[in-house]
Amino acid sequence: MPELPEVETTCRGIRSALRGRRISGFVLRNHQLRWPVDRALAKVLPGQHVRAVRRRAKYLLIDLDGGTLIAHLGMSGSLRVLPVDTPWLKHDHYEVRLDKGGCLRFNDPRRFGSLHWVTGDPLEHPLLADLGPEPLDKGFDGPYLAGRAKGRKVAIKQFIMDQGVVVGVGNIYASEALFRAGIHPRRAAGKVSRQRYDKLAAGVRAVLGEAIKQGGTTLRDYVNADGTPGYFRQKLYVYERDGQPCRKCGTPIRKLAQGQRSTYFCPACQK
Ligand SMILES: [Zn+2]
Repeated sequence: MPELPEVETTCRGIRSALRGRRISGFVLRNHQLRWPVDRALAKVLPGQHVRAVRRRAKYLLIDLDGGTLIAHLGMSGSLRVLPVDTPWLKHDHYEVRLDKGGCLRFNDPRRFGSLHWVTGDPLEHPLLADLGPEPLDKGFDGPYLAGRAKGRKVAIKQFIMDQGVVVGVGNIYASEALFRAGIHPRRAAGKVSRQRYDKLAAGVRAVLGEAIKQGGTTLRDYVNADGTPGYFRQKLYVYERDGQPCRKCGTPIRKLAQGQRSTYFCPACQK
């Protein structure tokens, strides 16, 4: 599943290819994505210029003259900039055509991706309005987390993955950040000290920042037709390492189930 670092990498890749370009057409081959895609886009989009390409949580926002396209990659989607005459693949669902050649094409075998057109402030769209802060922005820190966690009994792992608390901390990054902060994944969110929330915020920023940095090396995958989306070969401390020795203390890494997801942790390093 594309996580926040992959979406950020996609955002950077398509930004350089799209910015300042004019849309010359929109082709919709399959409107049945997670939500039906508006067929009227074929009439609405042509002639508009791309003002900006940005990201909010795992949504890509493409600002045009008269509104914003909000794209989500879902479970298995990818957006790539391709030559306009590139043959369609089986799971290619829509294409935004650009002036002077080239197009932005969406491929998604599982069709959990989405595309919305909004004419008002896209950040007020129901999909985006209630999202928590960006993990790499200034407002995300220990005091913020401690404030949100006050009195909460929910496990810290689920708390940090709650998109209303902070966006983009997926399963891999939650396990890795909790390891870096030395916090047991089952600890109640309200029972974690301010100092340890400082460490957790720093851990979240570090794991996501490193993954985005790695993503830069696979940027080519998103702007050329040369293969599958880039995944991140980050050095993982706990994720999917159950039974293997902790890289810090040698204790075997353990796995437990939380909210139907697997959590990995070191029983010696995390309390
Ligand atoms: Zn350990």
